[in-house]
Amino acid sequence: MSLETLLNEVPPITGKQCRLNIWLDSLNEDDRVAFWKAMDNEQIPTRHIWRTIRSIGCPNQESSVRSHRRAECISCEKRNNNG
Ligand SMILES: [Zn+2]
Repeated sequence: MSLETLLNEVPPITGKQCRLNIWLDSLNEDDRVAFWKAMDNEQIPTRHIWRTIRSIGCPNQESSVRSHRRAECISCEKRNNNG
């Protein structure tokens, strides 16, 4: 295979998910809703959310939870423009 072919085989960006969303997709609907509700609740510290989801298997770091809270995840931004 030529280098040109290899370079032109760009993996599609559409549909690419960040690790947090891949993990969220493994949850049931209720848990997903509960997660985003907690993310919107300013009374709940990011650290508490992160520790809680980590305890049930989330592989992400606290910084990842924080960036999602601020809607700063680049992968998510590319994926959904309507929030
Ligand atoms: Zn994301």
